[in-house]
Amino acid sequence: MVTSLSSSLGTERKLLTEVPGPKSRALHERRQRSVSAGLTQGFPVYIERAEGAILEDVDGNLLLDLGSGIAVTSIGHGVPEVIEAVSNQVAAFTHTCFMVTPYEEYVEVCEELARLTPGDHQKTTALFNSGAEAVENAVKVARLATGRAAIVVFEHAYHGRTNLTMALTAKNMPYKDRFGPFAPEIYRAPMSYPFRDGLSGPEAAQRAIAMIESQVGAHNVAGLLIEPIQGEGGFIVPADGFLPALAEWAKKNGVVFIADEIQSGFCRTGDWFAVNHEGVVPDIVTTAKGLAGGMPLAGVTGRAELMNAVHEGGLGGTYGGNPVAAAAAIATIRTMETRNLAGRARELGATMLERLHALASQHAIIGDVRGRGAMIAFELVQPGTTTPNAAAAKAIVAHCNAQGVIALTCGTYGNVIRLLPPLIISDAQLADGLDVLSDAVAAAG
Ligand SMILES: *Cc1c(COP(=O)(O)O)cnc(C)c1O
Repeated sequence: MVTSLSSSLGTERKLLTEVPGPKSRALHERRQRSVSAGLTQGFPVYIERAEGAILEDVDGNLLLDLGSGIAVTSIGHGVPEVIEAVSNQVAAFTHTCFMVTPYEEYVEVCEELARLTPGDHQKTTALFNSGAEAVENAVKVARLATGRAAIVVFEHAYHGRTNLTMALTAKNMPYKDRFGPFAPEIYRAPMSYPFRDGLSGPEAAQRAIAMIESQVGAHNVAGLLIEPIQGEGGFIVPADGFLPALAEWAKKNGVVFIADEIQSGFCRTGDWFAVNHEGVVPDIVTTAKGLAGGMPLAGVTGRAELMNAVHEGGLGGTYGGNPVAAAAAIATIRTMETRNLAGRARELGATMLERLHALASQHAIIGDVRGRGAMIAFELVQPGTTTPNAAAAKAIVAHCNAQGVIALTCGTYGNVIRLLPPLIISDAQLADGLDVLSDAVAAAG
């Protein structure tokens, strides 16, 4: 029934064919005929099974996963607790629509989100299917609760691909190009990007605040929406003090501070949320990705007085908080706690940073190494400059892929390699992945 429990994939990367192999190539041909060309092609190995940090493709190759499906399967693939919770819930019932006839699993996820998100104020939550949907709803709540329209977002931000979230997202290609017109009343402020601006956190915050006050007016701003560590934008960690200064300004001006923790949340950075590292307490937190161990689920958790300002029926959706996804989230949270995956993320981060700093000292194409916990990246440049080197990033990922290692790029300039290993990856598996990565950097440099 559950094949991953009956026979183990083992723990080692192993290639039986060139990758993609013949069966993957045949599937890829089928895909070209039936799947829209608008979707990113990535690394076209077709996956059949996965366990821990290992993916098995249709040709029997065992690949090492350093991407977790973009920070989603942070607890790893094929985790028995999640398989059991999901299987039991599928057998019990799969859908009623929470707005029609409710169920306990939804309520329990909301209780857990209130418990785990920062701050001990009273909080309530609404659940959705995707990160973009969560962000849209956070904006709805902020506007309704404040009676204001403007939303401030940041350079390099990524918040999704729906119409409103395209407007919130910074990068034109590939996310926005020719998809407009975009939603109005979105204002973009400068981000703290220590590698490129050299500003301290308070200086960068002052720059952003000055822009908001002169170009928007604090009294017009409903919400300030920010990824505490930017994901798609390049794993940009703002300088210390940037987030606290913005949160303080928001509080003083009646602006809802919304932390988009969709990529950085759920133990990824070595704590439940990235804002925890600086003691910032957001008014609203959006979550998705790592929350439900691979099932689609997203949350908007905020101060009860904001979330409950909405009239009945103003929030919701057919599938939001689906019982199977909710059961997966409950099991994921329990597993993260019992296995101390936040602690494990810190260990993995220390290992990755040490190796990457050593690599950077040998190879001038690495301009910056950064990140927190198991959300680590390095930025590739033309040696001796800060000029982005996207070609090197592409070559490094291609080298890793050919060796059966899944690695991802990101960044406004496409020149950042990000590492998002499943938090249950073993030391030996991580070392293997970093060896391959080191060879790839040496080849590209
Ligand atoms: C992925 C992501 C989103 C969008 O989530 P989807 O589930 O793809 O809609 C929003 N914000 C951040 C920070 C993300 O990383």
